[in-house]
Amino acid sequence: MLAKRERYGVFEYYEALISAFGPQGWWPGETPIEVAVGAILTQNTAWTNVEKAIGNLKRAGALSYGALHSLPDEDLAALIRPAGYFNVKAKRLKSFLNHVSLCHGNLKAFLGLPPERLRAELLSINGIGPETADSISLYAAGYGEFVVDAYTRRIFARHGFFGADASYDEMKAIFTSNLPEDKTIFNEYHALIVKTGKDFCKTRVPLCKTCPLGPFLDKKAHPHARETNNAPYAKNKRSR
Ligand code: SF4
Repeated sequence: MLAKRERYGVFEYYEALISAFGPQGWWPGETPIEVAVGAILTQNTAWTNVEKAIGNLKRAGALSYGALHSLPDEDLAALIRPAGYFNVKAKRLKSFLNHVSLCHGNLKAFLGLPPERLRAELLSINGIGPETADSISLYAAGYGEFVVDAYTRRIFARHGFFGADASYDEMKAIFTSNLPEDKTIFNEYHALIVKTGKDFCKTRVPLCKTCPLGPFLDKKAHPHARETNNAPYAKNKRSR
């Protein structure tokens, strides 16, 4: 396994994925507030459910910082119901909005904080953990934070980069210490990992034969290795 890690690092994985899938153009949100709301709502649910909740907010004219902030908690919870845990998530959204309002007055000022302070303040808000904080920092504020999610853990643990019980910071460090300091790469890499996880690296039966990362599997050491034929990955198949 170590030999494989020495031969192929996370940048080679990135090159394989961007070559196979092309740029993903994330985040799937039009404004910083939509990105922040999506990042909070996507906790513990599929993105399709978040899309329904965001659609409700848009139709109600509530997807702006001011409208969300003035919306009663119960109305907000009803609109985001499709995202699941809607009462909890409504409270989290309100905690986020209250922090922004009380400490900075508006979202633009908050997102304009220096990167380390922005991340620290995000992590201080009830219900915002490192994945959500890094998603907001990267996709709403445009800072070079690498986002680690459940797909990152599954894919790179299966490839031997870290154990399945590695901490968020341990996993993040594997990427930040081995990639160029380029927020465009961080932006695309997370999106490419999500696509790989959704389309190929299934929980029970990963589709290694057709996965762009199949050629990187260590055949001797990896339990999924027999499922790959090391076929060259398809070039530039663009999809979202
Ligand atoms: S599907 Fe197989 S080759 Fe692709 S990321 Fe998962 S374990 Fe690796």
